[in-house]
This record gives sequence, structure tokens and C-alpha cells, in this order.
Amino acid sequence: MDFRYTPEQAALKSRAAAYTRLLMEYENQSEEAGGPLPEDTVRELTRAAIDAGVYAINMPAEWGGAGLSLLDQVIVEEEFGKVTNCLWDIPWRPANVLAYGTEAQREKYLLPIIRGERFDAFAVTEPGAGSDPSSGTSTATRTDGGWLLNGEKWFVTCGDIADFLLVQADAGPERAATLFFVDKQAPGVEMTRVPRFMHSAVNGHPEFTFTDVFVPDEDVLGGVGNGYELTKEWFTDERLMIAARTTGAAERALELARDWAVERRQFGSPIADFQLIQGMLADCATDIAVNRAYT
Ligand SMILES: Cc1cc2nc3c(=O)[nH]c(=O)nc-3n(C[C@H](O)[C@H](O)[C@H](O)COP(=O)(O)OP(=O)(O)OC[C@H]3O[C@@H](n4cnc5c(N)ncnc54)[C@H](O)[C@@H]3O)c2cc1C
Repeated sequence: MDFRYTPEQAALKSRAAAYTRLLMEYENQSEEAGGPLPEDTVRELTRAAIDAGVYAINMPAEWGGAGLSLLDQVIVEEEFGKVTNCLWDIPWRPANVLAYGTEAQREKYLLPIIRGERFDAFAVTEPGAGSDPSSGTSTATRTDGGWLLNGEKWFVTCGDIADFLLVQADAGPERAATLFFVDKQAPGVEMTRVPRFMHSAVNGHPEFTFTDVFVPDEDVLGGVGNGYELTKEWFTDERLMIAARTTGAAERALELARDWAVERRQFGSPIADFQLIQGMLADCATDIAVNRAYT
């Protein structure tokens, strides 16, 4: 098996690396602010990502995305992973399942995201439903022309900056798991808490409650009862890209450790001369190569 990149993939990797270096210039500012960056800065970095062809990389080119294959996306996300503070959220990645929307949903929700004008977030997890997202207790009850949503969602990544959420709730008496487009400004939607995490991140993971939130029929994604299948498809894609980013993060950490090992002197020589340090660096390099291949 040949693991080498094609010339096109190598060029894509360089382009993603150049954009990542631009993001790195904002790491300290983001860290000092505890995460967020000024809106103007985010807008400029968004524009730069669109210009560099690394925005909405998972969406087809005919809709304005970068139209990359899954492997090409992994190459880009690995570079993004080298930046801290989740600054890789800025070159936005719309939820993959938005591609299944109707033409009207595409116009209203997806295309503005691809243009960098709107942001989505995915709300599945609940206080009692984590690893088992099929065990959620949020409900959607039938009403005239649509549904009334009730429930609570946790860990909604980027929910603080999102314009709308994809909310998984059980529809009707048969409790058919379904995804609903929910405008954050809709009456009954409340962002209750933005918990602090161990990491500083450019965007948060807030919690929401939904109290009799009206969602019209046309704002169901993929049909009633298909929510759990779509959620699984989203999780698979998201977790794959996390694997790519962690490989990039590890690569950067190794580079920093290597440079420090060469620079730092103890007992009269660089610590890189000591066999145990060399062994640790070699183990890291091996783990990274293996994890890149797994991904
Ligand atoms: C940074 C971050 C971002 C997130 N973003 C989102 C988001 O955007 N949208 C969203 O809906 N959710 C999001 N989540 C939620 C995430 O998907 C859940 O945290 C995850 O599903 C695990 O749920 P939990 O934290 O409740 O852990 P629990 O399910 O309570 O698990 C607790 C522990 O038990 C272990 N465990 C559970 N089941 C098993 C099993 N069958 N066998 C062995 N061990 C098991 C787990 O591995 C874990 O160690 C996010 C979480 C984090 C931390």
C-alpha cells in the first residue's frame, strides 16, 4: 500500500498548513481572552479561509464548498489540529447531514453557512443521554402545521455562536427520533449555561432548554423517524475529523519537544543526547505514524 500523497494532496496540505500558521498568530490572544476572539478578527480569518479554499471543505463545490474527498478532508483537518484553542472552528465545517436537506432548507440554512454568514450546531446530548444518544428524553409533540419541542441539551459545541441548532427529539407517541432545525431566536429557546472547560476554546459548549418551541413541518431534516441514523452519520464524520486533528496536535507537540530537547542543556550536553529522551521522542514519532495510518 502506498501512503504517499499525490502532488495535488501535497499542495492541499501546504495550503492548509499556510492557513494554520495564520491561525497560530492568534493563539496567545485567544488564550489570554480565555477563548473568544473579537468578531472582526473572526470575520477576517473566515474570509481568509474561504479565499484559501479551506472553508466548508466537506460540502460540494457546486454549492460553494471546497468539495474535498474524505481523505483530502483528513489531510486538511490534520493541519488544523496543530493550532490550539480550537481555532480550527473558524474554518467552519457544516454538519455533514445538512447535505440531506430539501432545496428550501439548503437555501435557508446550508448555503449561508458555506458563505460564512451563518453557523450551525448539533444538539443531541442530554443530562441523561451521553454515550447512548438513543436514550434522549426530548420530545416533539404534534400541533397544527408542525411540532412543539420540549427538552434539554448539553455540550452543544459552538451553540454560543450558532444561528440555529439541529435538535434531536422523539416525535409523536411512537417516539420516532427526528432532527429539527431550531432557530436560536425562536420563543422558548434558552441558552442556560456556558460551562468553563479545561481547555480555552474560541467557541463554547453551552447548554439549552426548549420549552414548547414551535417548529414548522418544513423544518424537519431528513423526514420524521430518521434522526438517529443522521445523528450517527454526523458523529462518525465528526469523530473521524477529531482523529485527524489529534494526529496534527501530537505532531506539533512532538516538534516542540524535539526542538526543546536539542536546545535544553543538562549535565553539560543537550538533553537530546540522553538515550531515554531519544527513546521517548522515537515512541512519540511511532505512535503518530500509526495513528495517522489508522485514521
Ligand atoms: C468537548 C465536547 C464537545 C461535545 N460536543 C457535542 C456536540 O456538539 N453535540 C452533542 O450533542 N454532544 C456533544 N458532546 C457530548 C459527547 O458526545 C458526550 O460527552 C459523549 O457522548 C459522552 O457522554 P457523557 O459525557 O455523558 O459520558 P457517559 O456516557 O456518561 O460516559 C461516562 C464514561 O463511561 C464510559 N462508557 C459509557 N458507555 C460505555 C460502554 N458501553 N462501555 C464502556 N464504557 C462506557 C464512557 O467512555 C465514559 O468514560 C461533546 C462533549 C465534549 C466533551
